[in-house]
Amino acid sequence: MADITLYSKSACPFCERAKALLASKGQRFTEIDVEADPATLDEMLARSGGQRTVPQIFIGERHIGGFDELAALDRAGELDALLESAGKQRATTDAPPEPERTRVLIIGSGPAGYTAAIYAGRAELEPVVLAGLEFGGQLMLTTDVENYPGFPEGVTGPGLMDMLQKQAERFGARVLCEDALRADFSKRPFRVETERHAFLADAVIVATGASAKWLGLPSEQRLMNRGVSACATCDGALYRDREMAVVGGGDTAIEEALFLTRYATKVTIIHRRDELRASKIMQERAKQNERIEFLWDSAVDEVLGEDEVRGVRIRNLKSGAASELSVGALFVAIGHQPNTALFAEQLEMDDVGYLKVESGTTRTNIEGVFACGDAMDPVYRQAVTAAGTGCMAAIDSERWLSEAAD
Ligand SMILES: Cc1cc2nc3c(=O)[nH]c(=O)nc-3n(C[C@H](O)[C@H](O)[C@H](O)COP(=O)(O)OP(=O)(O)OC[C@H]3O[C@@H](n4cnc5c(N)ncnc54)[C@H](O)[C@@H]3O)c2cc1C
Repeated sequence: MADITLYSKSACPFCERAKALLASKGQRFTEIDVEADPATLDEMLARSGGQRTVPQIFIGERHIGGFDELAALDRAGELDALLESAGKQRATTDAPPEPERTRVLIIGSGPAGYTAAIYAGRAELEPVVLAGLEFGGQLMLTTDVENYPGFPEGVTGPGLMDMLQKQAERFGARVLCEDALRADFSKRPFRVETERHAFLADAVIVATGASAKWLGLPSEQRLMNRGVSACATCDGALYRDREMAVVGGGDTAIEEALFLTRYATKVTIIHRRDELRASKIMQERAKQNERIEFLWDSAVDEVLGEDEVRGVRIRNLKSGAASELSVGALFVAIGHQPNTALFAEQLEMDDVGYLKVESGTTRTNIEGVFACGDAMDPVYRQAVTAAGTGCMAAIDSERWLSEAAD
């Protein structure tokens, strides 16, 4: 058994993901809560070269990094070998997996995937959910969800996803925390493979979501949910009465900024160029709003603050001059990337990668393959709309399976 140390703290979704990934490989680990004892935080800082974010993972003496680095090693097929060389027997065999037959295979475990699983489970279709290494989806990245119906006091993102998973399992869904690596929709049954399993499915529901694009700064990641966000509708109200900044220059950035003026004392739009990409009408609305200011030709180099956002360090891209802007929240609005690359050449998608569905349904261009949630929704991108289309996908697939059987 490899000697693994995982430094963590409470309410840390990436720690949970890292623990689940290691557990899925039958791997035990020593977990050290850095909040419980200040000495362990010093130990983690010393071992990791000053990394303050958790988790920090070590296999033997090798510093892996956080969950993203651990998952990247797994995706590259290197994690098993590393665990083996650190003392663990290989978790997988080299033989190709024998395919299992299933009626409905759901790829993705955000609100769309789990809602599809609840409906498909209740229709006695015994769905298999490939939850992915980033199981639970985007809501695992947030603390407070205040707009999901049925929770008058709000609910935490990980808490909501845990409840949705349990509800799906209660109706017979089998949940595997594995990524779909290959999908062949050229003939039925459809074949989908993970590293350890292969499935032949009569119907497939794609619920792989979309990922917000981030600036890629360590300080941005450290202050995520502590003033850094990619969703004004979701988080704007949490930072009421503060000055705020929005990064971006497209329609989404302007929409976010206009929405934030309900709560912010001032909103500064930080844009790399000296003109916006947004439509003329949106530009006009922003320019006429007294609470919105623009910082042109500028990029954010660092998000400032220890425990919450206190400001941003800006660099003027023309002059190179650095300056600081004092804000209490930063909204990154530089686009989303649907997680649909796996289905390129098979499923129709738009230029960005959003899956195309027949209007008013979740049917894709391939009969028997359905799409729901953020992976097919460039407009709303909310948990409740994802759950809604997840429900539609399960009903569409159940009806299609019944018709195909007649
Ligand atoms: C920080 C943050 C805060 C938010 N707050 C709110 C809020 O307060 N209220 C609200 O309504 N919305 C909020 N949202 C938006 C909301 O999270 C999304 O609209 C919603 O999660 C979309 O659900 P989904 O099921 O379509 O996809 P996601 O939640 O993105 O889930 C996609 C799933 O697909 C899986 N997956 C991807 N590729 C593969 C693969 N190849 N194989 C297997 N699995 C795969 C992933 O692991 C993941 O489980 C927030 C988003 C963010 C980022």
